[in-house]
Amino acid sequence: MAKVLILGGGFGGLIAAERLAKELGDEHQITLVSRSRRFIFYPALVRLAFGKCQHEDVSFDLRESMLDRRVNFIEAEVARIDPVERKVTIAHGEVEGKLPYDYLIFALGRRLATERIAGFYEHANHVLSLDKALKFGKAVSQFHEGRAVIGQCPEARLPVPVYEIAFALSRLLEEREDRKSARITVVSPTAPGVEFGDTNVASAIGSALDRHGIELVSHFPIERVSSSAAYNNFGQSINFDLLMLLPPFQGASAASHLGITNKDGYLDVGPTMQVTGVERMYAVGDCVNFTGPKMGHMAVRQGEVAAANLIAELNGREPFSHYIHEVRLVVDEGGIDSIYAHKDVWVDEPASVRQGRFWSWAKRAQEKYWEAAHL
Ligand SMILES: Cc1cc2nc3c(=O)[nH]c(=O)nc-3n(C[C@H](O)[C@H](O)[C@H](O)COP(=O)(O)OP(=O)(O)OC[C@H]3O[C@@H](n4cnc5c(N)ncnc54)[C@H](O)[C@@H]3O)c2cc1C
Repeated sequence: MAKVLILGGGFGGLIAAERLAKELGDEHQITLVSRSRRFIFYPALVRLAFGKCQHEDVSFDLRESMLDRRVNFIEAEVARIDPVERKVTIAHGEVEGKLPYDYLIFALGRRLATERIAGFYEHANHVLSLDKALKFGKAVSQFHEGRAVIGQCPEARLPVPVYEIAFALSRLLEEREDRKSARITVVSPTAPGVEFGDTNVASAIGSALDRHGIELVSHFPIERVSSSAAYNNFGQSINFDLLMLLPPFQGASAASHLGITNKDGYLDVGPTMQVTGVERMYAVGDCVNFTGPKMGHMAVRQGEVAAANLIAELNGREPFSHYIHEVRLVVDEGGIDSIYAHKDVWVDEPASVRQGRFWSWAKRAQEKYWEAAHL
């Protein structure tokens, strides 16, 4: 009998748990530990902020879903891991102390390094949790005139919601007949396209921004925020009346200082999703060291690969499944300028880009499908 421990109940952890439960015999014990029993479908948080869905529509009860699949669920806070002793220290929650394992899948996502941007906590809105998305939605409902700045700090690694928010805000202001008294500025720390790793995507987005009269300020790495302005490290500033800013991302702290991460705290893994230099440990999702944007569909595919390889290893075979690092994204513009892009990050070829209302619809349909498939 093997004890398989999965840390993190997001896209990567959930998929890995489901695959293991389906494929492993009943003699093996599968446990999922996460700080909250709610699974959050993050791509829907922009729609939540704009009042297009309710919070019950974007989350479900992980414990119930796991029970149906014979996975033990523990609601608890992971403090650190010890890959040599094969133990995980739980800080607080339904259990405390050390949990031993035979195989580990680390899927704790990324940490928000808000402390790297002075004034972020006090003055910036963001949409990276359910509460913060609702709080930003409230600020949007009170915004009628002035300048809205929507952007990412250096190392934020999540461009999709930035553009979706800019488009949604433009549409909302049009509906309220406030658009003429408001200016919308998207701020990016890099040159156009770098955040997506592709210039075709950047040019499709650029045209859609133009049609909405949204300005794009590139090469503006925000390092400080006050109550009315965002400052970059060249001493320039942009004033705002409404600010939505994604902070820098870092790897999850439970794996830091063990010598198994890169300098930003992301776990070093190869295409089999095995953690480099450590036995019987896999890592999936936003917490790993792959380049480019950090996205849910990547976490899902990595969760599948890790589960397949863990099962092979447990049965005395070599890991055989390999992850291919692809970006597949939909930027929902709410209408005909919605964008779908597909790019293999490890191959030096341009992304294929499609545009149309269909992609807006497809993104919402995927949300419904996800809930139906995993509840
Ligand atoms: C607003 C928004 C829009 C997005 N849009 C898209 C999109 O359109 N397409 C797309 O592909 N991706 C999108 N993403 C990105 C996608 O949501 C992430 O890439 C995905 O959630 C990563 O999955 P994960 O399992 O690695 O991490 P997460 O989903 O972050 O899950 C990590 C889990 O670990 C738990 N956890 C963390 N630390 C601890 C701890 N110390 N102890 C216990 N539990 C802990 C968390 O509570 C969480 O359950 C979006 C994200 C946001 C926020």
